[in-house]
Amino acid sequence: MEAALSPEPHFVVIPWPTTSHIIPLVDIGCLLAAHGAAVTILTTPATAQLVQSRVDRAQAGSSAGKITVTSIPYPSVEAGLPAGCERLDHVPSPDKVPAFFDATMRFGDAVADHCRLLNASSSPSRRPKCVIAGMCNTWAHGISSELGVPCFIFHGFSAFALLCCEYLHTHKPHEAAASLDELFDVPVLPPPFECRFARRQLPLQFLPSCSIGQDSLRELREFELAVDGIVVNSFEELEHGSAARLAEATGKTVLAVGPVSLCHGAPAPDASDDARRCMAWLDAKKTQSVLYVSFGSGGRMPPAQFMELGMSLVSCPWPVLWVIKGADSLPDDVKKWLQEHTDADGVADSQCLAVRGWAPQVPILSHPAVAGFLTHCGWGSTLESVAAGVPMAAWPFTAEQFLNEKLIVDVLGIGVSVGVTKPTEGVLTGVGGEPAKAEVRMEQVKRALEKLMAKAKAALETGGSSYMNLEKLVQSVV
Ligand code: UDP
Repeated sequence: MEAALSPEPHFVVIPWPTTSHIIPLVDIGCLLAAHGAAVTILTTPATAQLVQSRVDRAQAGSSAGKITVTSIPYPSVEAGLPAGCERLDHVPSPDKVPAFFDATMRFGDAVADHCRLLNASSSPSRRPKCVIAGMCNTWAHGISSELGVPCFIFHGFSAFALLCCEYLHTHKPHEAAASLDELFDVPVLPPPFECRFARRQLPLQFLPSCSIGQDSLRELREFELAVDGIVVNSFEELEHGSAARLAEATGKTVLAVGPVSLCHGAPAPDASDDARRCMAWLDAKKTQSVLYVSFGSGGRMPPAQFMELGMSLVSCPWPVLWVIKGADSLPDDVKKWLQEHTDADGVADSQCLAVRGWAPQVPILSHPAVAGFLTHCGWGSTLESVAAGVPMAAWPFTAEQFLNEKLIVDVLGIGVSVGVTKPTEGVLTGVGGEPAKAEVRMEQVKRALEKLMAKAKAALETGGSSYMNLEKLVQSVV
């Protein structure tokens, strides 16, 4: 008689509702399914389609197993948000951020009810065996305790940034700094690496005050301390032992499971008009000639800074693919300038293609025409660039992006710094924000881009990093 097969473990995956957290955590769910787990992804109605489309793509391209996407009503209106506002990147202004956190808390009650239903299922394979939750779904630990299963947290940060945060929580060097600009050590890596930051460059919870609110910040930290483990979108070899150091510093299991953007295999042709336009424009460009510019799912600059950047981009010698968020809210004179100096339609021989919607970033980065990436150093973008072997010019905006810049430029040596010292305000904003002024001048951007593109060229020349890695690849298959 055959032994009964034990049911595959059932993971409940609950992304925090903001686009850049949903993307990698859904990909992690797909990877778990490819490893034989059953996965339920709990999301909100307005986000279910985004989640389902990623799941469909992963399942079409690989052996990803059973994944169920369940949407649970998100109480936007009850919390004082516009109807359908179910992601942080849809929150209209910083003053609505506390309402978004309130909605997330209420959402937790409905998620808990759903998990109880799953746990009461007559089929053992439906009962959750592990919860993986986005960093702001602080109620997830209560749910996992009630179910008697482990809970893992997913921040969407690099292991290095998490390690810096842990050091900051424990040793609080920022509290002893005389000003927001005074540099202090965050000695998380051994020499020769030096990690020094100013307080205004730190993630929001370390600023004197921020739009999230003290009670929510306290809950976030309590959640971090309560979980059984940390899942990171990274790989152990990348961050100079940061994952192991993080495990030591926190006493928790740390599992680096990325780069998750690779879980879809070859980039699937994206159906949107913007995506087709980008890819057709890139196809018409020479290998390793294009500068790609994008600042994540929501990155917007004050108009004066936007103009300094824009003028450097339209006057640089390389073709530029520039993704712009919030173009509709730019002042009329900036819109007019954009209209006159960039191409919005994807004319094959244009020098600067401006994409105002959602660009297919992963396929863009792996396109052979792309030589360099001007990025805000969001961890998703950073790791996608690493996975595609594209060097970066770092223009951090906020959150943990200045920490990522340090990793990119000084620790890994895979990018250059534009030289930004102050954060740019976004919907999540803190005292370190700098309104309206242009900190970075056009000439400074140009100098950084020249260094970046020279770095890209050097990487491919004999003895360069890409050259040597190609050699290694060839050697590994002979
Ligand atoms: N992204 C994209 N197209 C865009 C803008 C962003 O595909 O036009 C994706 C990008 O590939 C990445 C994520 O959105 O996966 C952005 O995450 P990241 O951590 O870099 O930045 P955030 O949005 O959190 O600032």
